[in-house]
Amino acid sequence: MNSLSQPFQISHTGLVWNNHFHRLGADFFTALAPQALPAPYWVGRSEAVAELLGLAPGQLAGDALLEALAGNQPISGTQPLASVYSGHQFGQWAGQLGDGRACLLGEANGLEVQLKGSGLTPYSRMGDGRAVLRSSIREFLCSEAMHALGIPTTRALCVVGSDEEVARESLETAAVVTRVAPSFIRFGHFEHFAARNQLPQLKTLADYVLARYYPDCQTAATLGANPYANLLLQVTERTAVMVAHWQAVGFCHGVMNTDNMSILGLTIDYGPFQFLDAYDPGHICNHTDRGGRYAFGRQPDIAHWNLYALAQALMPLIEDQALALRALDSFKPVFERSWLQLMRAKLGLPEENEDADDRTLLHDLLALLAQDRVDYSLFWRRLSQAVASQQFAPVRDLFLDVAAWDVWQLRYGARLAGVDPQQAAALMLKTNPKYVLRNYLGELAIKAAKGKDFLMVANLLNLLEQPFDEHPAFESYAGLPPDWASHIEISCSS
Ligand code: AMP
Ligand code: MG
Repeated sequence: MNSLSQPFQISHTGLVWNNHFHRLGADFFTALAPQALPAPYWVGRSEAVAELLGLAPGQLAGDALLEALAGNQPISGTQPLASVYSGHQFGQWAGQLGDGRACLLGEANGLEVQLKGSGLTPYSRMGDGRAVLRSSIREFLCSEAMHALGIPTTRALCVVGSDEEVARESLETAAVVTRVAPSFIRFGHFEHFAARNQLPQLKTLADYVLARYYPDCQTAATLGANPYANLLLQVTERTAVMVAHWQAVGFCHGVMNTDNMSILGLTIDYGPFQFLDAYDPGHICNHTDRGGRYAFGRQPDIAHWNLYALAQALMPLIEDQALALRALDSFKPVFERSWLQLMRAKLGLPEENEDADDRTLLHDLLALLAQDRVDYSLFWRRLSQAVASQQFAPVRDLFLDVAAWDVWQLRYGARLAGVDPQQAAALMLKTNPKYVLRNYLGELAIKAAKGKDFLMVANLLNLLEQPFDEHPAFESYAGLPPDWASHIEISCSS
């Protein structure tokens, strides 16, 4: 471990660190430095996230930052720590977890900067504190892809790799992702102190989150002017909006444990996630999830369940069960409203029409997609192009039951009648991405990266940063996945 007492001034970074979480005190974390990663090299870098942090263009390249973000050199001004949290995993109380392989460096430009895969911490339990190159590339690319799709998410600055071996099902190599978010606080942080009946710490944490991230809740007149109930309400609403985005874009998270739920309603902890290929509400992307608790179609209910766990943890502060239940009750209406709005845009419908039953139109469409296992992203993109060109054959070709499609298309045509087709098409082409991070694309980039060829990581990042654009050179990445894609198995192992 590096010494914390000899800070290394990285030349010209100009980053000013202001470490609010650290000020919460020792009950909330263990101060420690990241573990050194031998002979690191760059695997992928996001200039957009570098800019967010206030780094100058091109600055995310030098050896000083490489060494620092590999955990080999302290950064002056940071106060690195691993935070403690608990949580429910697969529906069961799991007790204490914590940052077992993550290290929060501090906060720059209002954003927390965290290394993931940075070595052992007191919360590593049976783990080795490391992350493998494979899962680090997936997290890096997906964070930035989700952001570009307009979905609330933690961000990723870069991945650094090393030849250091780590054992999973087979031997792999280690990597560190630098993640960036306003806060990495999870539902599990609250559950931790509630489960231990540490009420002063619970209150300190809640007041911190209120003051920093939800100041409106401190003065809101709603819910009996109870700030903690209002906090629960806003977290519920943000989580509902986030999951509505997941369902609309066809994103399956895979491990919706309460320790993987952000208090800011951000998508966090990318593991065995998947963008759907064929549409299937029962799709389970996590090979470890035998019972399908986290199947695609169950995500909204699971998010709601997780919010109940958060509510339970906040009860000593809310003190009034009726208020907590009222806050939780906002989940379904907010989810439904957000989902409908997002799905309407996918259909090219700029607004609600009181005479039209868009919900039924959409559910009937999804039933058709599921019945014929139609590729989800391809369907929406082809539909967007069909509305633009008024040539629907490429969409029809995706269905086996073309008669059923024809019937649905007539209903859709009737609904679109009052809408200018070019306006509808323009909305659809900026709503339905041409490029999503399909598992097989990630696999190709990972395979190349294992051979020290990082071009595909860079190309995919570039593509996924502008997922609605055409990118003719990468047309093949927008098509159906190859046959071997259906055999990819992604487990919790990372
Ligand atoms: P996850 O399933 O990635 O959300 O992780 C659940 C818990 O296991 C968290 O406390 C992680 O920090 C911890 N964890 C996961 N992988 C490792 C690892 N390789 N070493 C130490 N802790 C880990
Ligand atoms: Mg996690």
